[in-house]
Amino acid sequence: MKNNTFVTHLECSMSGKRYEKDFIHGLSDEGKPLLVRYDLEKIKDLISKEYLKKSDQNGFWRYSFLLPVQTPNIISLGEVVTPLISLENVAKKLKQKSDLLVKDEGLLPTSSFKARGLGVAVSMAKQFGIDHLAIPTNGNAGAAMAAYAAKAGIKCTVFCPDDTPEINIREISRLGAEIFKVNGLINDCGKIVFEGKDKVGWFDVSTLKEPYRIEGKKTMGLELAEQLNWELPDVIFYPTGGGTGLIGMWKAFSELQKLGWIGEKLPRMVAVQAEGCAPIVNAWREGEETADLWENANTIAAGIRVPVAVGDFLIIRAVNESDGFAITVSDDEIIKARDFVSKTEGTLLCPEGAATLAAFKKSLSEGLISSNDRAVLFNCASGLKYPLPDAKSTLNKNQPINYSIF
Ligand SMILES: *Cc1c(COP(=O)(O)O)cnc(C)c1O
Repeated sequence: MKNNTFVTHLECSMSGKRYEKDFIHGLSDEGKPLLVRYDLEKIKDLISKEYLKKSDQNGFWRYSFLLPVQTPNIISLGEVVTPLISLENVAKKLKQKSDLLVKDEGLLPTSSFKARGLGVAVSMAKQFGIDHLAIPTNGNAGAAMAAYAAKAGIKCTVFCPDDTPEINIREISRLGAEIFKVNGLINDCGKIVFEGKDKVGWFDVSTLKEPYRIEGKKTMGLELAEQLNWELPDVIFYPTGGGTGLIGMWKAFSELQKLGWIGEKLPRMVAVQAEGCAPIVNAWREGEETADLWENANTIAAGIRVPVAVGDFLIIRAVNESDGFAITVSDDEIIKARDFVSKTEGTLLCPEGAATLAAFKKSLSEGLISSNDRAVLFNCASGLKYPLPDAKSTLNKNQPINYSIF
C-alpha cells in the first residue's frame, strides 16, 4: 500500500511511549488514548496556505495532509466547510462588544460534527481492512458511523441508552447498522462493546479508544483558523462530553503553530457541561487531573451526557494550558438559550450548542470573560434532531375565520 500521508508514529498521551503506524491500535498499554504524530517539518516544506486555498477537496478532507488517511481510502459523503454565523442580535442584547460567532456543525453529513471523527475513523478502518465496527452512542456518533460504514461496506453494530432521541435510533437503523437500546447510559453501552471485542471480534470505535476520531475532530480547529484568516478567537466555548473536539482542537492549534501558520496567541478553551452531568467541571474545580464517575447523569443535552471520559486528563490539561475554565449550565438555561437564539437569529441550535451560549452569557456576567473577547460557540448538531415542544394551533376552514387573532 502506498503511504502518502505525513504520519510518523503514534504516541501514548500519558507516557509518551511510541507506537508504530500502519498497525491497528486501540488504547496504549497504559490504557490511555494514543495521539497521531506527523512530520510537521516536511509538511511545512511542501504545503502552504496558498496551496490550501486552491484545494478542491470536500470540507474537512481539505486538511488531509494533517490526517492519517491515505487518499484512496477517503470515504466522502459530501462534507462541507461549516459556516461561522455571527449572532449579532444576541450580542447586542448581551452587550457583547466583540464578535459572537457560532460554528454551525449541523450541516455536516448526518447533521452533526460526529461526521468529522467518524469519517476519519471509518476511513482508517477501511485502510486497515477492518470488517466490523461497534460503538456506544448517545445518537449522533452512531448515525455518523453507520453512514460512513454503509458507504465503505463495513458491518456496524451500535448500542445506545434506551432514552436516546427516537429520530437518531431510526436514522441509524435506516443507514443499515444494527442498533440496540440498552437500559443504561453510554458508559454501560461502552462496557458491552469492550466485552464483545474478544467474543465477537468487532473493532471498538468508542470515543478516544481508537486514535483517529480525534484527528477528524481536530479539523474543527483547522477550519476555524482558516475561516478567521489564521487569527484565532479569544475564547472558545465547547460542549464537552468525551471531549474529543476540545482535545482535538487544542492539538490542531499546536500543529498549526509548529507549521508557523498561526502566531503565539491561542484561544482560552472553555469546557461546558450540564448541571446534571458535570464530571469534568467538578474535577477541574477541585484541581484534580482526572474525573470521577458521575452518578445518575441526567440532562436534555444528550451529546454531553457522558458520566466518565477516558480522555478526562487531556480535557483538563487543555483547559488549564489555555488559561480557560470549565462551567456548568442548567437544562432550564439551555432551553432558554435555544429559544432566545432561534427567535432572534433564525438559527435553531441543538441543546448542546445552546449550552455554549448559556455558558457564554454566564461567563460574561460573572466576569470570567470580557465583552471585548471575540468568542466562538459550537453548535454541534442540527436542532432538528431533538424533540421540540408541541406547537399546534388549528384553523377550521369550514368556519368563518376570525382575522382579529393574528
Ligand atoms: C458528541 C456530542 C458532543 C460532545 O462532543 P465531544 O467532543 O465528544 O465532547 C456535543 N454535542 C453533540 C451534539 C454531540 O453529538
